[in-house]
Amino acid sequence: ATPTSIMVGTGRGAEMGVLFRRGEALQLLKEAKVVALDKTGTLTEGKPALTDLDLAEGFERKDVLAKIAAVEVHSEHPIARAIVEAAKAEGLDLPKVTGFDSVTGFGVEAEVGGVRVEIGADRFMAKLGLDTALFTETANRLGDEGKTPLYAAIDGKLAAIVAVADPIKKTTPEAIEALHDLGLKVVMITGDNRRTAEAIARRLGIDEVVAEVLPDGKVDAVKRLKAKYGRLAFVGDGINDAPALAQADVGLAIGTGTDVAIEAADVVLMSGSLKGVPNAIAISQATIRNIK
Ligand code: ADP
Ligand code: MG
Repeated sequence: ATPTSIMVGTGRGAEMGVLFRRGEALQLLKEAKVVALDKTGTLTEGKPALTDLDLAEGFERKDVLAKIAAVEVHSEHPIARAIVEAAKAEGLDLPKVTGFDSVTGFGVEAEVGGVRVEIGADRFMAKLGLDTALFTETANRLGDEGKTPLYAAIDGKLAAIVAVADPIKKTTPEAIEALHDLGLKVVMITGDNRRTAEAIARRLGIDEVVAEVLPDGKVDAVKRLKAKYGRLAFVGDGINDAPALAQADVGLAIGTGTDVAIEAADVVLMSGSLKGVPNAIAISQATIRNIK
């Protein structure tokens, strides 16, 4: 593309809230074969709410919720906010905690009144040597409903299964449809539970799901998808999306996302809407066509 056509395309993007930070992105996007998207905060609002809390025998709801919320106060994960909000809504006083630790991609832990409390994914419980079989059916049902099941352990015993649900952004279904109309494959990459991810993907007509990815795993997933499909655009919002944004042929960050993601991106979508993704690709196609 000529400098003039890049200026025209960049200007057209700006009018639509699509900020091209590198002229090269405008040329590469039209060749994209696959769009991979992060789930939480990208396809969904990133504002989960607590929906379920089922107890193991011998545990009491208010006590469990107060303890796990007390731990989650110290976490920045959207899941943490959901749990703290729920405890506050029930008027619970949160006890003080010590020794807080976040095990990235697994969950969080701390001591509450001298008792160890852990909360996180099933793989976190497995790491702790705790059997979650008691809740398998519940977890499967919650996952199929598109909710994220989490487990709480108190004093080394499985205490509860908790679920949070994160609403899909209103504009996501039409954005996915537009990407399909442009002839692209659409893939979700997420650290979330497989069943949950697949339930959400099914609702959106997403072609492929890479789930239960550990923080470093998004880059590997991007590499694999590039080898499989060809030119790849990755869309994300989080700190842990930055390496994948850099690894993609074109990285697109949600403008309402973290600074780290925006810094790593070639294109910034000024609104939270994913419609900027097909718009950016359409602008790329039109711009390059115009100069021929
Ligand atoms: P994602 O951004 O896709 O959720 P993460 O790597 O941040 O990926 O988290 C992966 C999984 O680890 C979450 O789905 C959840 O099961 C668990 N997890 C992470 N942080 C927390 C937390 N603060 N509280 C409970 N579970 C957590
Ligand atoms: Mg995210």
